[in-house]
Amino acid sequence: MFLAPSPATLARAGATLSVDLRAIVANWRYLKQQAGTAEAAAVVKADAYGLGAAAVARELRHAGCNTFFVAHLDEGLSLRHAVGEARIFVLHGTNPGTEADFAAAHLIPVLSGMSQVEGWLKFVESQGRSHPSALQVDTGMTRLGLSRREFDRIRTNQNWMRALDPQLLMSHFACADTPRHPLNHQQLETFSKFAKDMPGVPASLSATSGIFIGPRAHFDLVRPGIGLYGGNPTPGHDNPMAHVVTLSAKVIQIQSIDAPQTVGYGATYDVPKPSRLATVALGYADGFLRSITANPAAPPVYATVNDTWKARLVGRISMDLTTFDIGEVPEGRIQPGDTIDVIGKYASIDTLADAGATISYELLTRLGPRLPRLYKNGTAS
Ligand SMILES: *Cc1c(COP(=O)(O)O)cnc(C)c1O
Repeated sequence: MFLAPSPATLARAGATLSVDLRAIVANWRYLKQQAGTAEAAAVVKADAYGLGAAAVARELRHAGCNTFFVAHLDEGLSLRHAVGEARIFVLHGTNPGTEADFAAAHLIPVLSGMSQVEGWLKFVESQGRSHPSALQVDTGMTRLGLSRREFDRIRTNQNWMRALDPQLLMSHFACADTPRHPLNHQQLETFSKFAKDMPGVPASLSATSGIFIGPRAHFDLVRPGIGLYGGNPTPGHDNPMAHVVTLSAKVIQIQSIDAPQTVGYGATYDVPKPSRLATVALGYADGFLRSITANPAAPPVYATVNDTWKARLVGRISMDLTTFDIGEVPEGRIQPGDTIDVIGKYASIDTLADAGATISYELLTRLGPRLPRLYKNGTAS
């Protein structure tokens, strides 16, 4: 279970991460609708991309989501408490010797290699009854998955098929965020053949971006992650997803600058005119990536003050501090103790990730434990 941070915790924190649960549900419903008749699961690995798997999954479960994916067994064990009877698939499958832990918590391992398959078969034999699993095949990602030969060995062995009791046949796109990439078509064709050769087992190929490739990519179940959390699944196009995350950092000090000055480590930024600067209690130790300020030639990044004014990020992000030019904020409208939205109206997770030469996935999953998670608009409890 999760506990809401107390007012005292929020008062002590340097920065707070607000998570709009209603927006997550809206995103899930939108993706489900895009996926037509396919079931829409939810990927909540890595603590729901850093936002808090228990809170996110409970809310989605309440909204009607019945299938969840995590990466690790331990993530599945914690999630089991949060979502009751829902189906939970564990993407990494079994580590040798952990099979009984899966069965005890009704977690379904995604078996990706012959050693995992053989381990599961041995476990099933020792139990004297079948246990549900999922099978992952490799269609071109070349990361995890059974080869065509291994798949054929499994599907033609009736005893194995009975013992493995496959609930899902899955694979993963390598280039779904580039819809015209030729590998997408190739993977679709390859996966369709796999699915045809294992009739009666539901098939799943698409994560968030794959859903936008179109109906041929939907199969029986889709596995969105980043889209639920507001990341843009259609790079280069407007983001169809609702904004989920706001990162608000507290101002520690405001300085008026009236002589030429530089800001921060390396003196990389010259304050161009008399101005006011605000330094906030947030830095790369919180996951606010220093690489966002590594390239002085990159386009400026803006935080939001009072939902209204832009404040430009100036100088380098340090471990625990970041400085903003608040020259555009009218005098008296911001004081120490007030907050600036660092992820918000003027800086989406995709904008910041671009600035930091990374992707929204990494930006979110790096947001650290020092930031209390504040859940808004929840209905599950
Ligand atoms: C992480 C992951 C997903 C979710 O991907 P998004 O791009 O975040 O939607 C789906 N399937 C697999 C196998 C994954 O590893």
